[in-house]
Amino acid sequence: MSQRNQDLFERAQLRIPAGVNSPVRAFRAVGGAPPFMERASGAHVWDAEGRRYIDYLGSWGPMVAGHTHPAVVEAVQAAAAKALSFGAPTETEIELAEAICRLVPSIERVRLGSSGTEATMTAIRLARGFTGRSLIVKFEGCYHGHADSLLVKAGSGALTFGNPSSAGVPPETAAHTLVLDFNDLAQVEKTFAARGAEIAGVIVEPVAGNMNLVLPKPGFLEALRAQCSTHGAVLILDEVMTGFRVALGGAQARLGIRPDLTTLGKVIGGGLPVGAVGGRRDIMEKIAPLGPVYQAGTLSGNPVAVAAGLATLKLVEAPGFQDRIESTTRSLIQGLVAEARKANVTFSAQSIGSMFGVYFRATPPTSFAEVMECDKDRFNRFFHAMLERGVYLAPSAYEAGFVSAAHGAAEIEDTLKAAAEAFRLA
Ligand SMILES: *Cc1c(COP(=O)(O)O)cnc(C)c1O
Repeated sequence: MSQRNQDLFERAQLRIPAGVNSPVRAFRAVGGAPPFMERASGAHVWDAEGRRYIDYLGSWGPMVAGHTHPAVVEAVQAAAAKALSFGAPTETEIELAEAICRLVPSIERVRLGSSGTEATMTAIRLARGFTGRSLIVKFEGCYHGHADSLLVKAGSGALTFGNPSSAGVPPETAAHTLVLDFNDLAQVEKTFAARGAEIAGVIVEPVAGNMNLVLPKPGFLEALRAQCSTHGAVLILDEVMTGFRVALGGAQARLGIRPDLTTLGKVIGGGLPVGAVGGRRDIMEKIAPLGPVYQAGTLSGNPVAVAAGLATLKLVEAPGFQDRIESTTRSLIQGLVAEARKANVTFSAQSIGSMFGVYFRATPPTSFAEVMECDKDRFNRFFHAMLERGVYLAPSAYEAGFVSAAHGAAEIEDTLKAAAEAFRLA
């Protein structure tokens, strides 16, 4: 057995904190050394030891069309040959903005940036600038990137490491963020009744994907919409993960909720760094230089990144794309549930669009508290057994999984074969 992953991990740690440039990659939650990746194609990734994995991480969401899709790679190569960056406007930025507005009807104007974090940071600044209020409402376990005011009881990596509220965020900043329970409608109503006039905006993942996968209860998002409208607060749907994945028009299209602002990322960059905030024209026109809310970026709307995003959206828009990927995802989770039952393991799973959640718990969780009841040790054993069998899941019990259009019946069959053994070892 080659030692190369272990050697690279040790070398990385000499110069990069924990050897990684984003915390969950370090495998701290599940233990062991992470494979260092070298190349990818379709549904597969290959590590530095030449081992192939069926990939359900999808770079944490962006790779919905599969890895190194020829249309995306060609678009990137063509764009790169023309220019890497101008710092001046280009026609391709208009094309991406037009595509976003066409696919997500609540978006009338959109500003591009380079990450989801920038998008949510700008969205809450816009909500505050537009309303002249300071309070932001978020939900425990939802992750909206790593801006100060949003790193309070956050999900994803923050949750994985048991410190959902980051050090380095001044208490004065955190005090402007009210944290409520996802899916607790009564709490939302009570909070608005008490402090509605101070609330600038509510930010929520319409389908929570950073505390594993938690679906909104019927009526929950509708109540957020109604409370925001009544009290003059801005409703921000953070669709960085769900955009173009839960449905072509995002979770908002599937669930029938019209937000004031939407944040996007991941899929709109097709694997290169793109983020976006968009929405109501009157709110978006508060952004500089039209209005007083500042936002900027040296590489915003970067021509190579935009080309990757445009090529990806073109694939995602093709007739049948969403239906096919959704049914592949459904067959994966149905198969997993069946294998778990055969192995007598307490387990449940669910999916929406091409996102899925697996839970070592009898039923899918509907709240943060229920997510915490999942058997984490069992997940970790399952994770490693799957990894050894060539199936790459996100290395934490608190992450959602992603299927790409390149995953087909053969990959699902191989995954379920691995799972049949892994459940017995978990
Ligand atoms: C990934 C994610 C972000 C942050 O995006 P980055 O590009 O990692 O900064 C924000 N919100 C949600 C819902 C996400 O899943």
